Amino acid sequence: MNKKADLIKNNKSIAMLAPTFALDFKYPNIIGMLRHLGFDKVTELTYGARMVNWAYADYVKSHPDQKLFISSPCPTVVSFIQSQYPEFAEFLMPIVSPMAAMAMIYKKHHPDYKVVFISPCHAKENIEAPKFPDFIDAVMTLQELKQIFNEEGIKEDDFKKDYYFDSFVREYTKIYPISGGLASTSHLGKLFKEGEISVTDGILNIRKILEDIKTGESKYRFLDLLNCDGGCIGGPAINNKDLSVEEKKKIILEYTSQSSEHTMGKHEGKVDYAKDIDFGTVL
Ligand code: SF4
Repeated sequence: MNKKADLIKNNKSIAMLAPTFALDFKYPNIIGMLRHLGFDKVTELTYGARMVNWAYADYVKSHPDQKLFISSPCPTVVSFIQSQYPEFAEFLMPIVSPMAAMAMIYKKHHPDYKVVFISPCHAKENIEAPKFPDFIDAVMTLQELKQIFNEEGIKEDDFKKDYYFDSFVREYTKIYPISGGLASTSHLGKLFKEGEISVTDGILNIRKILEDIKTGESKYRFLDLLNCDGGCIGGPAINNKDLSVEEKKKIILEYTSQSSEHTMGKHEGKVDYAKDIDFGTVL
C-alpha cells in the first residue's frame, strides 16, 4: 500500500497542485480525480504566489541600496548558489516559495488538515519541504500521482463534470512555472530600471550570468532564476517530459486561459486570509 495514498485517505487532507499539473492531467477532471482519491480540498499555489510576489516587492522597496536581488522559489538554485557561489548567498531573497506560502495559509485556516504538495520535481520534497515540517506534510511528484491513479483505477475520462478548485481568491499568477513568470507577475519592472531584470533558466545559463556579474560584465540587479529548462515546466518528475519547451508553454497558457474563465471571481480580494502570516524565511 502506498504510504502517501494512505495519508490522504486516513486524514482530512488538502492537495496543493503546482500549475505544471496541466502538462500531465486534464482540467478540471484532475480536481474530481484528486477528490475521488481522498483529498477533501484541492487548490493551486496561485494565491500563495500572489503573497510571495507582494513580499518580494516589499523586500525590494525596503532595501533601496542593495545592489543585487536573487529570487528563491527554486530549492535547487538556492542550494547551487549556497554551495557553488557562496559570495552571492547574501543576495538570495529570504522569502518563502509559493509552495510554502500556500501551505502556511492553509495550515492557518485548516490546522487539522494534512497538506500535500503535488510537484514537478524531487527537489521540493528532498530539499525544501523538510525546512517546513509544520506546514507541509508530504510532497508527491506528478509521476507518483499518475502511478497512484493507475493503481487505484482512477481514470481521467470518468471525471468530466464541472469541478472547481477550493480557492481563496481569484487567481492570476498561473504562469509562475514558465521561466520569467515570477518577474512578469510580481510587477517588479516598476521597481527596476530597464535592463536590470534578468530571467534565466538552466544551470549553465545561471552559472554564466553569475560569472558575468562577478566580472562586472553584467549590470543586472534582479535575477529570476529557475534550474530547469523553460522553468518548472522542465521539472524532472513531470510525466510528459518529452514535449518541447514551446509545446509545454502553449499547454500552460491554454490552461491559464481556460481556467481564468472558470475561477471564483466573487472571492477576489480576500487577502485577509493571509493577514499576519510571516512569509520570511532563513535560507
Ligand atoms: S525549476 Fe526545476 S528544480 Fe526548480 S523548483 Fe522548478 S521544477 Fe523544481
